[in-house]
Amino acid sequence: MAKDVFKVLKKSKYSKARAGILFTAHGPVETPVFMPVGTQATVKSLTTDMLKEAGVQVLLGNTYHLSLRPGAELLKEFGGLHSFMNWDKPVLTDSGGYQVFSLSNMRKITQEGVSFKSHLDGSKKFFTPEKVIDLQRSFKSDIMMPLDVCSPYPCEREKVLLDMNITHKWERAAGEYWRKNTMNQLLFGIVQGGMYKDLREISAREIVQMDFPGYAIGGLSVGEPVDIMEEYISFTVDFLPEDKPRYLMGVGLPENLEFAIRKGVDMFDCVAPTRLARHGHVFTKEGKKNIRNKEFFDDKKPIDLECRCYTCKYYSRAYLRHLFVAKEILAMVLMSYHNIYYVTSLVKEIRGSILAET
Ligand SMILES: [Zn+2]
Repeated sequence: MAKDVFKVLKKSKYSKARAGILFTAHGPVETPVFMPVGTQATVKSLTTDMLKEAGVQVLLGNTYHLSLRPGAELLKEFGGLHSFMNWDKPVLTDSGGYQVFSLSNMRKITQEGVSFKSHLDGSKKFFTPEKVIDLQRSFKSDIMMPLDVCSPYPCEREKVLLDMNITHKWERAAGEYWRKNTMNQLLFGIVQGGMYKDLREISAREIVQMDFPGYAIGGLSVGEPVDIMEEYISFTVDFLPEDKPRYLMGVGLPENLEFAIRKGVDMFDCVAPTRLARHGHVFTKEGKKNIRNKEFFDDKKPIDLECRCYTCKYYSRAYLRHLFVAKEILAMVLMSYHNIYYVTSLVKEIRGSILAET
């Protein structure tokens, strides 16, 4: 199972970028790939048909949120996340670790797992490496992530070291549990180690040694300056095997994507494209624009002159600005669609140029 799930089709001559294919239970994924985040079994304001039209190949779901509501039992009854939300393409689910540490209070880490209180109703929960695999099995996720501890930024070395060691222990346990019965689901390893290069190296070496079908760079995009994030992307990626997919967690702004792809990253997820859209920010070739700006009041041009998405084909900046100011739901839909289409197309374009050696 851990073999041949990923194929590198072409390596760039000009950078460390590569184009490949990742094989999953719900079909192949062309990489590099951007994965929109569907926290509550939906990418906010978009139907799954719209996502497909925008060229989305794989969605990300959040184990923390889904396990609290609607709950793993219900998803299991529906045969998994795919049929529940009407999405027949691949799904990647995170381990929930990140949300336990960012959303829930009263959390307590032991060697066995993490206990916490639901941010919804205060009920007590306990995640172990095995439990988190079982949850993701109920979701029928194509790609699962193991329970980990994501250190905040900034963070003292002592604490990062502790977090890293627990992460390694949990990932080993998750890996052993998953190997007993893979159920055609992939499990990726996650590298932690905060902003300490020696720890990053130790973490990468240790995780790679556990031999997962793919590897993720965790613990970045947690509030550090962009130059530090880029430094740690470059540094960490070089320790990951060339023949396995590399996933950079939580990063997905156009400018960060281009950088990371050049360094050899294959997969990305980020809530930013849809979250920004809901706040009126849209991506264009000239950078991010705020649709609320007065200058767009009577602007007949589309958001982006070259974008071929539905929103840019039929609607003006003036109309979108009007919808946004009037707090109309359609503003969210049309701008979210554009941002997802924009990022997806950008990554696809880069993939094309890797394959064409340009
Ligand atoms: Zn567009």
